[in-house]
Amino acid sequence: MVNVAINGYGTIGKRVADAVAAQDDMHVVGVTKTKPDFEAKLAIEKGYDLYAAIPEKQDDFKSAGVNIVGTIHDLLKRADIVVDCSPGGIGAENKPMYEKAGVKAIFEGGEKHDVAGFSFNAMCNYDKAIGRDFVRVVSCNTTGICRVLHPLDKAFGVEKARVVLARRATDPADIKKGPINAIVPDPVKLPSHHGPDVQTVLPRINITTLAIKVPTTIMHLHMLNMKLKNTPEPDDVRDILGKAPRIRFVRASDGITSTASVIELGRDLCRPRYDLWENCIWEDSISINDGELYFFQAIHQESIVIPENVDAIRAMMTLEKDAQKSIQKTNKAMGIA
Ligand code: NAD
Repeated sequence: MVNVAINGYGTIGKRVADAVAAQDDMHVVGVTKTKPDFEAKLAIEKGYDLYAAIPEKQDDFKSAGVNIVGTIHDLLKRADIVVDCSPGGIGAENKPMYEKAGVKAIFEGGEKHDVAGFSFNAMCNYDKAIGRDFVRVVSCNTTGICRVLHPLDKAFGVEKARVVLARRATDPADIKKGPINAIVPDPVKLPSHHGPDVQTVLPRINITTLAIKVPTTIMHLHMLNMKLKNTPEPDDVRDILGKAPRIRFVRASDGITSTASVIELGRDLCRPRYDLWENCIWEDSISINDGELYFFQAIHQESIVIPENVDAIRAMMTLEKDAQKSIQKTNKAMGIA
């Protein structure tokens, strides 16, 4: 049983904790919070051992009557591996602490590739993560793009990919970056960083990305266009994507006509926090036009990277050497069909 610590129990951290707790080959030894807020209290109610992320702030927990077991340094002594889910950029600052403690670490997509020197997606490069000490799980958008590019490239050869991303402005619980009433080219200067980030996982893919930020909090929407070496029929594409793990087809013909109804689907599936861990691809958008492939997909930014974190732990701890077996095991434990 591998002992996993979660440093930063926020949007991603609390979901990673629950996904790890659902597995039978790994265990959550503790989670950290910077302050004794409702999330800290709920973490204890759920049965997680709570630690202070910032040792100088441990007295705040005591004053608020919130029981902590110790500080991040105590937690690292109990852990085989830590998943750093702190805000982007803090993970790189935390890395020397993990090195000193001799603990393996996973970083999230808000960190630069260099933080680990290896960027991960379970479908694309699980094998290369086996036994590694440091791995970065790529961001929500990069994960969503890698999951479709990889099987399509294997089946038909991707000559050129172009992706336009309509990005949610911020997460639903965040009141600092929203609401906005604007459509923001993000960035104005092309291309956006997403294409180069995809290439940290799939270096041979020729891809250009453009992004806009839109006034919504629930999901991203991707518009994908690919020139393929062997032009398929739409049914061939459906077949390949339908067989790939962590992809769910939705249909406008079923009334799923926007990200709002995709999220409603998540609610009706009674998913925890209405999480949609899969790429939600509009099956009826898959088209071949002038020899090129087009389709739409919705990406639930808060949850799509969660199963990838579980697989990264399994690879780094050499719990499973076969990518497909790990993906299936993670999916089964989390309830991903
Ligand atoms: P968040 O702000 O929701 O949560 C971060 C947590 O870390 C908070 O609880 C915060 O109090 C805590 N924290 C702050 N300083 C800390 C420190 N020094 N040590 C430990 N914890 C500290 O952020 P998030 O959305 O969960 O993002 C975490 C990482 O995941 C980032 O790299 C982000 O880019 C990436 N990510 C986020 C999303 C998303 O849509 N939210 C999607 C994919 C990847």
